[in-house]
Amino acid sequence: MEFSLIDRIRELTAQARDDVHLGIGDDAALLGVPAGQELVVAIDTLVDGVHFPHGTAAADIGWKSLAVNLSDLAAMGATPAWALLALTLPNADVAFIEGLAAGFAQLAQPYRLALVGGDTTRGALTLSVAVHGFVPPGQALLRAGAQIGDAICVTGTLGDAAAGLKLVQEAAGADARATYLIERLNRPTPRVAAGLALRGNANACIDISDGLLADMGHICAASRVGAEIDASLLPRSSALLDLFGEQASRDLALSGGDDYELCFTVPAKHVATVQADLARLGCGATKIGRIVEGSGVEVHGADGQRLAFEHRGWDHFGT
Ligand code: ADP
Ligand code: MG
Repeated sequence: MEFSLIDRIRELTAQARDDVHLGIGDDAALLGVPAGQELVVAIDTLVDGVHFPHGTAAADIGWKSLAVNLSDLAAMGATPAWALLALTLPNADVAFIEGLAAGFAQLAQPYRLALVGGDTTRGALTLSVAVHGFVPPGQALLRAGAQIGDAICVTGTLGDAAAGLKLVQEAAGADARATYLIERLNRPTPRVAAGLALRGNANACIDISDGLLADMGHICAASRVGAEIDASLLPRSSALLDLFGEQASRDLALSGGDDYELCFTVPAKHVATVQADLARLGCGATKIGRIVEGSGVEVHGADGQRLAFEHRGWDHFGT
């Protein structure tokens, strides 16, 4: 790529850090992992029209490409530090690239996360972001570790992003509630501080990218336990309930992807403390069920009756 464009990305994302010994500009970056920390790495790719609607604003795409990755670090209980950005673009549109970099930088800045390198190629619009963070050895939150009797909790509200996607696809008018839901789709808030607060408290944790049922299923499989979820406890925003009603909002909260909230399990006696901690951090936490013997996720309605679901979340290959 032309050097001026890489320079613009570097300017827009500039973040001084002592542990970046050499950032953007050479063949590779040189980084110093702090003594006594485990390095936590993750990568996620966003493809135009698959992971964000075609026509999404450049700044929203830049934000989301980092947000989905910070969410993975949050789910591990890691502190973010560095990122790499592999950018594939149909053409060298300067305004578009500046928009991407500005949206990325807006989310990176409060975490003092440094963009330390990347790659730029021509092709269909695709962003791969790799993130790096730190965790004290042995303290990372894992999918495995849920214990029978644990409470199952989630941060924030569920179903908003999937509702936002429906609204974008229907080109719905932008009242305040629709705008809120579409913002939840385009600018997810990674629960980084919540992940840090859960270290030492949660027995298992995952971020909800594919939908609650699918992602809770991953905790169950990794922990060799079952889960019972009470559908009447699912936290939903007033915007979602207003626009979609009780039943559709419940289904979106169970199966809709892209919320990037945390789902975690915690010993029942710690629920109140964890809820108070996460309330102080702004996202809150809602108890939605419990870990049981067995396997798989069961959902019960308000009357205690078991609900059956066909669509258990986003399947990457549509099978
Ligand atoms: P090379 O051909 O040696 O890989 P590049 O021209 O791809 O070099 O990259 C030059 C420098 O710019 C490298 O430090 C690389 O990490 C950085 N860079 C390239 N593209 C991006 C990008 N999209 N975001 C951040 N840094 C980038
Ligand atoms: Mg090189």
